[in-house]
Amino acid sequence: MAIWNLGSINIDLVYRLDHLPRPGETLAARSRAQGLGGKGANQSVAAARAGSATRHLGAMGDADGWVADRLSEAGVDMAGVARLADQPTGHAIILVDAGAENAIVIHPGANRAIDDQGLDRALAAIGPEDTLLLQNETNGQLAAARAAQARGARVVYSAAPFDLEAVQAVLPHVSVLAMNAGEADQLFAEMPEVPVQGLLITRGAEGAEYRDLTTGAIHRQASFRVDAVDTTGAGDTFAGYFAAGLDQGLTIPQALRLASGAAALKVTRAGAGDAIPTRAEVDAFLD
Ligand code: ADP
Repeated sequence: MAIWNLGSINIDLVYRLDHLPRPGETLAARSRAQGLGGKGANQSVAAARAGSATRHLGAMGDADGWVADRLSEAGVDMAGVARLADQPTGHAIILVDAGAENAIVIHPGANRAIDDQGLDRALAAIGPEDTLLLQNETNGQLAAARAAQARGARVVYSAAPFDLEAVQAVLPHVSVLAMNAGEADQLFAEMPEVPVQGLLITRGAEGAEYRDLTTGAIHRQASFRVDAVDTTGAGDTFAGYFAAGLDQGLTIPQALRLASGAAALKVTRAGAGDAIPTRAEVDAFLD
């Protein structure tokens, strides 16, 4: 009963501007904020705050100790994260204009320099009671999914950002494929029949559905109505809480409701990893 998450760790640098810069333009930002981000880190924080023992697997630069501290403070075990001397921690430069439109540049850095053999070694200890989480912001998904599947673990693949080749390669080793509606549309256009046990599709304020392709059952969960201020990390909060719910033995409808409550609370707060609610907050919200 633990979550192992092979995932990206980013420093989010958020600059607020009157408008997004045009080619050749130099602009002074109105403000700058720095926070924890990366789909992987967000999902680890979500799973840990959901109450699951959570081990992050990945890599970051050898500076930026505050990033590792932030994850540790959230309850994430960081022993499986390599500190690389020759690669910087991944980071995202996020430009936000006065109308909340954004433009984002990501430098993956250490997130794409993860050692496959290290993953194999780390995942030698995963077991049939455990869950492996994956996204598409690192390398090593195939090696990790194979290692986890071979040991009988559940594999939950949050296939974002969308990458058809990665999905095709990893899918045979996956139990649950999670996507937002846009990513699902892209996948179905290429692959009308998706051979996987479970398909989780989130649809923003409209809700989420889980299709159990082994029984044909479809479980639907409406989104909770909240005043959304920042939807960054909503999908990651959902994925991390949902995986944790399954890992803790919840039924699919229970896990959907828990994840939906967590994601609804997240969108009422600005920020990514730092803004993911705790289980106590989610339980109080759902009560
Ligand atoms: P992503 O962040 O990956 O694009 P979605 O936009 O589908 O994913 O959001 C994931 C989940 O977050 C939704 O299924 C829902 O539970 C929750 N969510 C997102 N936006 C809202 C919103 N405006 N109000 C309430 N819940 C939301």
